[in-house]
Amino acid sequence: MFTCGKDRVKDKIESFAKFGDTGKGGITRFSLSPEAIAARKEFIKRMEALGIQTVTDDMANMYATAPGTDSSLPRIVLASHLDSVRNGGNYDGILGVITALEVVETIVRDKIPHRHPITAMVWTNEEGSLYPPAMMSSGVICKKFEKATVLKSKSVEGKTFGEALEASGFAGSESNRLNPQDYCAMLELHIEQGPIMEAEKKQIGVVDGVLGMFNYRISAYGQSDHAGTTPMSFRRDALLAAADAIKYIHTELDKLAKDIVYTTGEIVLHPNVHTVIPDFVEFSLDVRHWDPAILEKALEVVKNIPKEIDKCEIKYKEAWSRKRVSFKPELVDLVEKNAKELGYSYMRIHSGPGHDAQYVADLLPTTMIFVPSKDGHSHCEEEFTSVEEAWQGINVALNTIIDIDKQ
Ligand SMILES: [Zn+2]
Repeated sequence: MFTCGKDRVKDKIESFAKFGDTGKGGITRFSLSPEAIAARKEFIKRMEALGIQTVTDDMANMYATAPGTDSSLPRIVLASHLDSVRNGGNYDGILGVITALEVVETIVRDKIPHRHPITAMVWTNEEGSLYPPAMMSSGVICKKFEKATVLKSKSVEGKTFGEALEASGFAGSESNRLNPQDYCAMLELHIEQGPIMEAEKKQIGVVDGVLGMFNYRISAYGQSDHAGTTPMSFRRDALLAAADAIKYIHTELDKLAKDIVYTTGEIVLHPNVHTVIPDFVEFSLDVRHWDPAILEKALEVVKNIPKEIDKCEIKYKEAWSRKRVSFKPELVDLVEKNAKELGYSYMRIHSGPGHDAQYVADLLPTTMIFVPSKDGHSHCEEEFTSVEEAWQGINVALNTIIDIDKQ
């Protein structure tokens, strides 16, 4: 079995943590911001030190390829993102970039024989923090979004993604895009971003796919009246109705499966004045599960919400949804085999969050590796994965790449 450099992994984690450092243990590193550009330059510098040039495509995704012994073979790619949410952590995305850098560095320095070229890749704007949507460039390359549309995506300051792309100096040629002719497989290592692996005491998450989900908007329509003059029995309070609707949905969804997850994270309230009974409330409902049959039943729950609750009319509409994504079974099995042969504890796991890999799965054979997140924290400054845990995950990635190379 091959292993990478633990000290080098530590060094990489520490050096990327400087770009966008909040001083409170985390980073704010929006895509194409000066902090993200500095992190991109660090990636390029580290690849240059190994004699590898970095090229970009028209969405500023970066590719650094170590040649193999047979240049006619398609490339194997390791990829993730280096942008973050506001006050995010030092592991989400960047640990996958560090994995790509470290796997390539180990293969080059240790002269590990391989036939296929091996590419370390960085996706632009995975988080969509300044310029929505999330997973923007993998979405464009995998034909989920129109490029012309995302170029117009605006930050709160009114700058467009297209302008930021132009100004960054990182927009390259469309001919450099990841494609199924020049690439044969993609692997993405990521932190779990949840508490399951830690609770199960597992070192490696063998990810078999991404949960299907739907997102609905549910509204309650009542009547605004004076808070001081309207007796309780006369009221049509839209907020009370919404609260009872949420409680109803939770009770019914809990009956479906113990591992179903659902969230109301957003609420709109009108008129939102402390002396006025609310006449309108709209809330979001995000529901995720692996089994399409369970999601179908969850949808029935939404559609069977009583039409009237607390004398208020209830309506619902779909915002968006996505089907479950299954990763390439042969690659999932290779990750499991290598976790086992390296002597690490492991478990099969589904990804709840979306990742670039879920779009790439439509383009190329793709899979992911998870490493544990301390206390399940992510998208916050407390996000933490130890050097040891990261190193173990990268070792699984390294050996999986070498196995793919043999096929
Ligand atoms: Zn991520």
